Amino acid sequence: MRLLIMGPQGVGKGTQAALLSKHYGIPAISTGDIFRYNIKNKTELGVEALKYIDKGELVPDELTNKIVKDRLAMDDAKNGWILDGYPRNASQVEALDAILNELGTPLDAVVALDADHDVLMERMKKRAEIEGRSDDTPEAIAKRLDVYAKETAPLLDIYRQRGLLKTFDGVGAVDEIQATIVAELG
Ligand code: AMP
Repeated sequence: MRLLIMGPQGVGKGTQAALLSKHYGIPAISTGDIFRYNIKNKTELGVEALKYIDKGELVPDELTNKIVKDRLAMDDAKNGWILDGYPRNASQVEALDAILNELGTPLDAVVALDADHDVLMERMKKRAEIEGRSDDTPEAIAKRLDVYAKETAPLLDIYRQRGLLKTFDGVGAVDEIQATIVAELG
């Protein structure tokens, strides 16, 4: 199973990706997590990515596409994966298409989660208190929501046109949302 999980910040992508990963026995790959790991370990990639992440901006495509390409070529990704937080703009969709073409592994589905703006803001605030991410400042949160609306939300149409998009309500009990997704994906 090769899946994308998409939706605005705070909608529960990470939570559902982790449950899907367990259910299908495939890795959940989050570009945000990869960046955060590199930041924590002060790698060259981390130092560069931090400049953008703390402002709520997208890390340049060149860097992001490369980490995805490398990650999808790893052994544990042979039987499938869930990509969380990628692609985030039209050029990343193209890059992913090229990566998957090269690997000969097409996408099975795109899981899109949706929720009202107020619910998202509330969840983001709570997460900021719990996790203390350096990019959970009000300015960075606002910027991320703005980037999502302008650059990422339009990508859903691309996948809808390809017949891959499956949309789910991101509000409700985590387990029930998970069960609904799995029932739909099979
Ligand atoms: P996330 O954990 O998915 O919210 O990602 C945290 C931050 O990492 C984002 O606000 C971006 O700065 C950066 N990031 C994660 N994924 C991508 C991506 N696909 N393209 C560019 N930047 C990304």
